[in-house]
Amino acid sequence: MQLSDRVNRIQPSATLAVFNAKEKLLAQRIDVVDFGPGEPDFPTPDHIKKAAIRAIEENKTKYTPSGGVMPLRQAAVEWHAKYLGSSYAPKECVINSGGKHSLFNVIHALINSGDEVLILAPYWVSYPEMVKCADGKPVVLDTDPEDGFVPRASQIEKAITTRTKILIVNSPANPSGTVIPEEEFAAILEVAKKRNVFVLSDECYSHFVYGKARPFSIASLPSAKSNVIISASLSKTFCMTGWRMGYTLAPQEISDAVLKLQSQSISNPTSIAQYAALEALRGGMESVEEMLGQFSRRRQRMLNGLREIPGVACHEPEGSFYVFPNVSGTSYGDGVSGADTLQVTKELLDREHLVVIPGDAFGAPGYLRISYATSMERIEEGLMRLGRFFRAGKPVTSTAATRG
Ligand code: PLP
Repeated sequence: MQLSDRVNRIQPSATLAVFNAKEKLLAQRIDVVDFGPGEPDFPTPDHIKKAAIRAIEENKTKYTPSGGVMPLRQAAVEWHAKYLGSSYAPKECVINSGGKHSLFNVIHALINSGDEVLILAPYWVSYPEMVKCADGKPVVLDTDPEDGFVPRASQIEKAITTRTKILIVNSPANPSGTVIPEEEFAAILEVAKKRNVFVLSDECYSHFVYGKARPFSIASLPSAKSNVIISASLSKTFCMTGWRMGYTLAPQEISDAVLKLQSQSISNPTSIAQYAALEALRGGMESVEEMLGQFSRRRQRMLNGLREIPGVACHEPEGSFYVFPNVSGTSYGDGVSGADTLQVTKELLDREHLVVIPGDAFGAPGYLRISYATSMERIEEGLMRLGRFFRAGKPVTSTAATRG
């Protein structure tokens, strides 16, 4: 079978192997603790579900305009303006089938063969693959764990070449939970403008912030619009991962290009989901606040628990629903170093029936991505298993406890 170069260039999801191994254990009725989830464990709020049911009953089940129904485009720009301080017109907004679809479309609308896209590691697994699919060149820039993985404008500027077209930023970030400070966003925008690069801002976790951090969009900065593209998602904020709802905010020419791609691929995002999304964006933020209260308590418990494990070093992430500890200073079993996180992940699943994702999948070996999108009771159980696994070995270095 001669498949396309495009498909041969890309890898399947790096988390698939862990997922398959977990499914095998579950099929044997084994009590697996899952610290893998990339989605909130709460149901879609009732008022959103009811709006979808209403849409079906009212026969809103036909094709819609490719970019989504106008009331939804209007609602998306209003929501973004109200909660994140931007000022887009509905025609600069395209509704997509999820944030991932938005990112995929934007990258395919802008990237020509050999164009470079700057990606900040640790990165979300799909960025490099999307860029490769578009025949672009992913250029990975490591951020500093000592600096909480905050990308710095000065470092970005040094990496820009004449082929650089896009810089992808993701704040709060998956997997690190890092929130980019507003002044760093401003500095990044300045560099982008000076060097004529687009900042593609993935705001999937925009409202998952804790402590002093506040939801923030680079699009709210003065004169940002010409160099900024926003990929937004309703998946996590409104517990709607399965509905596939996201949107793109971009200068008119780019929105039109995204629309063109979309009209020749999916025609339109699902009509019913669009009416659910309309209710989500117009129906208030009470359910979001409630969920965030729970996430905040879980995050603290997870951090406290991890810090009690010898050799585990964990910076305090200000956002998302992941923690990203460095376990290279641990050991397990008969003194095996925890630095090989692909192996650690496998052994944790085999011995403790605990699912975590290796940092290797995100360009950061030596780390584990641990999701706290699960109940407090499962967090307690998982921490107990994690502690038992690592305490079985002696820490191999003592300095690691201050790193990362
Ligand atoms: N961006 C990041 C960083 C993510 O973690 C995810 C999902 O896990 C997405 C985008 C895509 O979300 P969706 O396509 O469900 O809107």
